[in-house]
Amino acid sequence: MENYFICVQCGTQFPAAAKPPRHCPICEDQRQYVGHSGQEWTTLKRLAASHCNRFENEAPELLGIGTNPGFAIGQRALLLHSPSGNVLWDCISLVDNNTVAEVKAHGGIRAVAISHPHFYSSMVEWSERFGAEILLHTWDREWVMRDSPRIRFWEGETEPLFDGLTLINCGGHFEGGTVLHWPAGAGGKGALLTGDIIQVVQDRRYVSFMRSYPNLIPLGPAAISRILKTIEPFCFEQIYGAWWKANVLSDAKAAVARSAQRYLHAIGA
Ligand SMILES: [Zn+2]
Ligand SMILES: [Zn+2]
Repeated sequence: MENYFICVQCGTQFPAAAKPPRHCPICEDQRQYVGHSGQEWTTLKRLAASHCNRFENEAPELLGIGTNPGFAIGQRALLLHSPSGNVLWDCISLVDNNTVAEVKAHGGIRAVAISHPHFYSSMVEWSERFGAEILLHTWDREWVMRDSPRIRFWEGETEPLFDGLTLINCGGHFEGGTVLHWPAGAGGKGALLTGDIIQVVQDRRYVSFMRSYPNLIPLGPAAISRILKTIEPFCFEQIYGAWWKANVLSDAKAAVARSAQRYLHAIGA
């Protein structure tokens, strides 16, 4: 029987096959890693038998969706409510009937937009369950393991969606690394949804920027200034990161500026 195997370490779903793939290119890349017991695989069915999703508002109009117990990289996705349709920002591996019912009760999903390949997870399953388009930056195309006609690759520095929402290509962690600007966020002062392209750190007055988080590979000054330059035209008071409560809740634009300054100083730039 064919299965869409899911890598246990990074949560990425692969194309249908009778046997699990031999390798996961995402985990073998220097930005990720293969676990101690070697490459392991699961399926959506097996995952749904041992895990369930949890739903909790991170902010008004912003519903967090994460998996319990934690699975793979452990990020939570965000369902952003917008008048013309909802955006699923970033993605997780588990989508089951309960999740579909819960998200439909919140108005479903018009578009799935993902910051970078570590969170591609089961994006095709999500898009098929909700009839949604998937928006990915074309520079990360090589990291798409399960392709689909529902994926639209966008190019350039920005991509307008609807209701003033804009995808911004910051690069850094991945060449196609993307953040989402939400002008109606933070009570109209604006918010950025950043995944780990701009990573909210434990001290939530700061963020950081890395080529690899698990392997601690920093970025250089050119990458940092590109991130700053691409977000400069956008107003935002808050940043919503990749994990539960990993959010900068005030003065976020200044937080990015002082974090970049501290970072550049630390790497001797
Ligand atoms: Zn993997
Ligand atoms: Zn990542």
